[in-house]
Amino acid sequence: MKLAKRMSRLGTETAFVVLAKAKQLEAQGKEIVHLEIGEPDFDTPPNIIDSAIDALRGGWTHYGPSAGLPELRKVVAGEVTRTRGVKVDPAEVVITPGGKPVMFFAMLALIDDGDEVIYPNPGFPIYESVINFIGGRPVPIRLREENQFRLDVEELISLVTPKTKMIVINSPQNPTGSVLTEEDLRAIADVSIKNDIIVFSDEIYSRIIYDGEHRSMYSFDGMPERMIILDGYSKTYAMTGWRLGYGVMPAALAEQVAKLQTNCNSCTASFSQRAGISALTGPQNDVGAMVNEFKKRRDIVVEGLNKIKNVHCLVPDGAFYVFPNVARAGLKSAELADRILNEAGVAVLSGTSFGSFGEGFIRISYANSVENINKALGRLRDFFNEI
Ligand code: PLP
Repeated sequence: MKLAKRMSRLGTETAFVVLAKAKQLEAQGKEIVHLEIGEPDFDTPPNIIDSAIDALRGGWTHYGPSAGLPELRKVVAGEVTRTRGVKVDPAEVVITPGGKPVMFFAMLALIDDGDEVIYPNPGFPIYESVINFIGGRPVPIRLREENQFRLDVEELISLVTPKTKMIVINSPQNPTGSVLTEEDLRAIADVSIKNDIIVFSDEIYSRIIYDGEHRSMYSFDGMPERMIILDGYSKTYAMTGWRLGYGVMPAALAEQVAKLQTNCNSCTASFSQRAGISALTGPQNDVGAMVNEFKKRRDIVVEGLNKIKNVHCLVPDGAFYVFPNVARAGLKSAELADRILNEAGVAVLSGTSFGSFGEGFIRISYANSVENINKALGRLRDFFNEI
């Protein structure tokens, strides 16, 4: 079959490709430590699982409204009101199968051919892929190590043109773990308001933050009407396979996103949504315990990496990734990641999986046990000593 031209503009996520390669090596009898995939290694808390089972038994097995179950939209609106400090109406919430569709559908609803979208690079690869796919023009903004991988606002201003329709921000960030400061957020909000640009704020890691509270631009005057928040359950409640996320946006846009869902997935699984109510209204101690554990691992991984020859690693403030600088090893990042997998038996991602400005870096996910992290650090130490 001859594919449509647009398919040549669609990218992907290398994490899944590397996972497949690692699995192949395992099938050949090699033992691999998995530090490539971006999902918590914890189980979904039991109260959420019980709630889904009850929902299945209780008949929540049918279609629901495209925008999400009214009860869940109300609970999410309450949660966002509490955490972002601005009153959110349930009509401004759309429930989606995972956080990703918020991005896909909101961009589809807002970006016309040739509209420019500024997005972080290194950054989550799906931004560039979706912008390209729907005919927008991706404009990368470089996140620099010397700026703790935070977006530089002067650079942002220099990239704005009359065609700039949207700015994508992501804090805490994948792949660097960087967190934007209140000052950064204020400055970006000013740029958005002054130039009438929409902000797409990917806050999927909003609960995985190590010092202080999550800050969202949503709480600033003038922002809710020009902003979309992506958030969800995948990372916070270790629910990646449940496919449950949400977007917060002006009600008129929420209607359009719901209409896109009617045309695509109809709705999000009803029993997942019922469990989503329990997740947000039930005990939160499992989330706190997971974040504490991630913090412990972050410290082990950063300390261990900084003792390795030709590796330098910043301390990230959120998410569960580190993005060490490995440029001094003298190899291209993609080749280095490949050799680390094949020769050291550790699956990591090349920094270039997150865009061209990721050259010179690798991404390590520390969503793995301390035992495995220590094993990987030992293998990496030997590997970097030998090359
Ligand atoms: N945004 C970022 C920055 C992510 O890292 C991910 C997942 O890796 C997502 C969005 C998508 O999350 P979900 O699995 O809920 O679709």
